[in-house]
Amino acid sequence: MDQVNRVVIAGAGIGGLCAALALAKQGVEVVVCEQAARLGEVGAGLQISPNALKVLRQLGLESELSQFVFNPQYAAIRDYKTGEYYLKSPLGKQAEARYGAPYWHLHRADLHQVLAEACTQVGVEMVLNATAAGYRENTELKQVYLLLEDGREFGADLLIGADGIRSKIREQMLGQERPTFMGQVAWRGVIPVSDLNIDIKPDACVWVGPGRHFVSYYLRGGDCVNFVAVEERSDWLSESWREEGDVEELKRAFADWHPEVSELIKSASSTFLWALNGRAELPMWSKGRAVLLGDACHPMLPFMAQGAAMAIEDGYVLAKYLSRCALDDALLKYEQSRKPRATKIQQMSKANAGLYHMHGGGLGKMKLKALQAAGRFVPNVIQSKLDAVYGYDVTKGCSLF
Ligand SMILES: Cc1cc2nc3c(=O)[nH]c(=O)nc-3n(C[C@H](O)[C@H](O)[C@H](O)COP(=O)(O)OP(=O)(O)OC[C@H]3O[C@@H](n4cnc5c(N)ncnc54)[C@H](O)[C@@H]3O)c2cc1C
Repeated sequence: MDQVNRVVIAGAGIGGLCAALALAKQGVEVVVCEQAARLGEVGAGLQISPNALKVLRQLGLESELSQFVFNPQYAAIRDYKTGEYYLKSPLGKQAEARYGAPYWHLHRADLHQVLAEACTQVGVEMVLNATAAGYRENTELKQVYLLLEDGREFGADLLIGADGIRSKIREQMLGQERPTFMGQVAWRGVIPVSDLNIDIKPDACVWVGPGRHFVSYYLRGGDCVNFVAVEERSDWLSESWREEGDVEELKRAFADWHPEVSELIKSASSTFLWALNGRAELPMWSKGRAVLLGDACHPMLPFMAQGAAMAIEDGYVLAKYLSRCALDDALLKYEQSRKPRATKIQQMSKANAGLYHMHGGGLGKMKLKALQAAGRFVPNVIQSKLDAVYGYDVTKGCSLF
């Protein structure tokens, strides 16, 4: 196979847009087909760790994004009832010095908008109301065609499936298989600070309790607070993976938690409820002229806050190899470099469910106490666990532009 001059991408999420921008900046012609009628993201926050920020920096977006961010001072794990700290690990300036980039909180809509505008500026063609149904390849012409539900086709040298956890591109490549419900649901919401009756600390805070946890952090320079409330459930009856949540049910579920949680939730006027789904490791990430990235190939529980970060890294690495190697070699190198990392972080995210939900009763509590002791007496042990995640730099020695 040969060089790639034109790429079609299914899905204008964070992963699809990062790949589009990295490719277009290198002179590749890019078309992005998005099912939604308009570009945008649901109202919720994202923790953008230094590893992802290094990519956004290389893409030239750091300064534009900096006006929307909140810089947390600590990553904290606290007890759901007493508020006791099991972990308080520095972020802010210390994380920036250690990892070479800051740790940011961003509203998804802000990140998405900055990415979309940057894509448009470098000539990426955005096609909306464009729902991917599958693809076909013409080996003689060395072309792949993205097939839309409405019958339109978009030809290119390469198709990128960035169409999320229910990817149609993955389905055609590897067969029909629904994502697996991971036994957890998440309520998400954003509350303006002006509506709060309580002070929230400027930390990325995980409140841990039996069978549940609660995450809170500021967004937009401290103007609002994002929350994610996760609860274990044995089943998910709805066909949808995301729906309007019942705020009263959320309030009841966390009513006996520490006031910083229960009072915060009292100010919520609306919420979305998500089923948390996953997939087993895929046997391959590409076939012929189609390749997957982000949640389309490695969806993960959000308990390391790394799903979007992995999609961002994927887009950059794919663009890097496509700019340096012939297509088949590039796809091989992309999978070889990304799969071990994404799989490892999928596993770490899953393991955090046990810690955050105090699995094992007394044993669960003991693990948290051990974490507390480690944080106090050998803080480097905690940080070195995160070094491999946050210290990673896919742009190192590889400025694409
Ligand atoms: C509760 C929760 C909290 C999270 N918090 C964090 C966090 O703090 N930090 C972090 O890094 N990650 C976090 N994540 C994970 C992150 O949201 C995802 O991993 C990330 O959005 C994946 O990006 P993506 O572009 O691969 O897929 P998506 O964001 O799912 O985007 C896919 C895009 O494709 C479009 N699409 C879908 N099907 C089609 C089709 N057939 N045709 C055309 N278009 C299609 C969709 O409309 C969408 O625009 C969290 C996730 C959850 C559930």
